[in-house]
Amino acid sequence: MATLAAGASAKVPEVRDIARIERIGAHSHIRGLGLDDNLEARSVSQGMVGQQTARRAAGIVLGMIKEGKIAGRAILLAGPPGTGKTAIAMAISKSLGKDTPFTSMAGSEIYSLEMSKTEALTQAIRKSIGVRIREETEIIEGEVVELQVERPASGVGAKVGKLTLKTTEMETIYDLGTKMIDSLTKEKVGAGDVITIDKATGKISRIGRSFTRARDYDATGPQTRFVQCPEGELQKRKEVVHTVSIHEIDVINSRTHGFLALFSGDTGEIKPEVREQINGKIAEWREEGKAEITPGVLFIDEVHMLDIECFSFLNRALEDEMSPVVIMATNRGITKIRGTNYNSPHGIPIDLLDRMIIIPTSSYTDKQTMEILKIRCEEEDCEVSEDALMILTSIAMATSLRYAIQLITLSSLVSRRRKSNEVAIEDVKKVYSLFLDEGRSEQILNEYQDQYLYDSKLPNIDKGA
Ligand code: ATP
Repeated sequence: MATLAAGASAKVPEVRDIARIERIGAHSHIRGLGLDDNLEARSVSQGMVGQQTARRAAGIVLGMIKEGKIAGRAILLAGPPGTGKTAIAMAISKSLGKDTPFTSMAGSEIYSLEMSKTEALTQAIRKSIGVRIREETEIIEGEVVELQVERPASGVGAKVGKLTLKTTEMETIYDLGTKMIDSLTKEKVGAGDVITIDKATGKISRIGRSFTRARDYDATGPQTRFVQCPEGELQKRKEVVHTVSIHEIDVINSRTHGFLALFSGDTGEIKPEVREQINGKIAEWREEGKAEITPGVLFIDEVHMLDIECFSFLNRALEDEMSPVVIMATNRGITKIRGTNYNSPHGIPIDLLDRMIIIPTSSYTDKQTMEILKIRCEEEDCEVSEDALMILTSIAMATSLRYAIQLITLSSLVSRRRKSNEVAIEDVKKVYSLFLDEGRSEQILNEYQDQYLYDSKLPNIDKGA
């Protein structure tokens, strides 16, 4: 016993470590928008710091999404790099219930050899629309009074069966099909067990046992069991609601791919006929009151990476009755619309911009930056001294918040190598000297460009703005 317990406890940290690795991502510290009941943004809450106007605006949008009021709208988060646009979108996603689909993609993801740009966008849109399908089934819940199973002499499979189930109202005898008998015996259901039977599917679940439970069925040859049991339970009608995305329905019904494609993500292109049929079916279910549509959210980061064809496709898709809420983010100013020679704000065509509501984000103060870095240190389980945090903050202000966030993990590794549990100034200085930020990298390139292959002057590099 003692060895077993020790073995089990030795395994626990391993499991924890894996969970931890999966949990730490760029935005894993964000748990919500950090708003109070009046939708005002608290200065630091739920992992969010500052950016109060944008968070408040996002809170209003969130409320409208939850009420299903803004299907087909587009929201643009626009601001300089590292000002929390993606973080705000993640906060919206965390605040939505699990039944509201949220799909996140980068603009560049639509460029693939496997499918056309519009197919990639269509799949992203259909992943973001949920269908709530209601099914009414009669579930009988009761205690097994008697279960008779007659097995063939060979002992393989079950031939006939009879189940007497006691519900509160009555004692009912059910004649069971082979399938049901099989699942009852497989589940080792015996008299005294409380079970539910779904009448539509014949699915049996054991939900409890009473003390008079009979032994498992193990004998070969015909056998009968009879045990008297205490009072049974009730009979009820239950409504089962499944929420799936339209894309999932598409994939399951696409003969070329089959439902396994849902796991591999290897769905390829889906034929328009399949989609038409599915749209028709969903419309039918809606009319019969069996299904309703829940528009979710499609988040497209780096939206300036889309080209003119995609923008015009999106413009049209937003008109569709079943469109999700599309939240986009960009850090670009006035720039070329991809696929054209025209400049436009954020690289987005004016007609699409015109139908968007725009939420601006702005740069952080020293204090806010320090607060974000502190939260990230906590998230990464990294103890950091006061002065090291101040240096990290100055680095973030001089370079970028992202660069300083990267230095946290690196400094922590360096501090551990010198057997310390706390990151000190020297650790930050060390990693700052080892790893370049964008500014210093540019400076070095300017100094030594003639030693690189294919060198060209930096002004030719597309720096975004
Ligand atoms: P880009 O334009 O470069 O894509 P962005 O505006 O999307 O940048 P984020 O990726 O959201 O910026 O922010 C960079 C990092 O800083 C992320 O780890 C993010 O979670 C964190 N961060 C940014 N703003 C906040 C904030 N207000 N509160 C907490 N964390 C934040």
